[in-house]
Amino acid sequence: MLMAMKIQSGLPPIVLLALLPSFFSSLPSAQDFDFFYFVQQWPGSYCDTKKSCCYPTTGKPAADFGIHGLWPNYNSGDYPSSCDPDSLYDSYQIEDLVGSMQEEWPTLACPSSDGNKFWEHEWEKHGTCSESVLDQHSYFHSALQLKNKINLLQILKGAGIEPDGGFYKVSSIKDAIKEATGFTPWIECNVDEARNSQLYQVYLCVDPSASRLIECPIFPKGAKCHREIEFPAF
Ligand code: AMP
Ligand code: AMP
Repeated sequence: MLMAMKIQSGLPPIVLLALLPSFFSSLPSAQDFDFFYFVQQWPGSYCDTKKSCCYPTTGKPAADFGIHGLWPNYNSGDYPSSCDPDSLYDSYQIEDLVGSMQEEWPTLACPSSDGNKFWEHEWEKHGTCSESVLDQHSYFHSALQLKNKINLLQILKGAGIEPDGGFYKVSSIKDAIKEATGFTPWIECNVDEARNSQLYQVYLCVDPSASRLIECPIFPKGAKCHREIEFPAF
């Protein structure tokens, strides 16, 4: 940026004036990330690992994908995190959403809890990095709306892919989601106690206003799936 300014300083003032808007738009003010990963998680695959899980104090979640998070990302693959230590999670700001959060964004960590700790972690680590676009209520509300628009379980069942402990090709899972949503997902796997590779999380990319799906500018790095993976029951 300094280099560019130096070169441009030889230009007539009128040209410099014309360049001002593009200079300011390149500053990290309006939106300091490029897109979101919207990550949904299969609870059966969280729970049957060695670490196991604990159901929320509100009871066993439905046998459905849950939200893990809405994560601001850069096109480079890097991502910002914990951007604003002064912006604390405040459950009062999302009181109207808590019923839906308990259903759609269940905590599975041990010991059992009501979910606030998980949501607090997600807000402080990820949500504070998209605060220029979404305040706390909009952040959680947007994730819930995305979840309602993208019914992964229904999509997979429609393609004959069921949480029945059977093994399915990653490519079939991917194709079914692409066919139904129009966008290419990324599938993350983990391993169960018997070392089976299984369907753990599904990543879809979302535009910076968190309202519509986009093709992923870059796919996450990380745990590879086997060619065929288990879809465990929950
Ligand atoms: P993140 O820090 O947002 O990238 O998410 C990773 C962290 O979230 C890890 O500490 C996980 O153990 C935790 N985590 C993932 N899924 C859940 C869940 N359903 N409930 C509670 N914690 C979770
Ligand atoms: P493979 O079985 O590795 O040849 O992959 C078959 C198809 O699935 C290819 O289009 C891969 O790019 C794609 N693929 C493989 N692993 C994943 C994954 N974890 N998530 C999404 N697509 C994948």
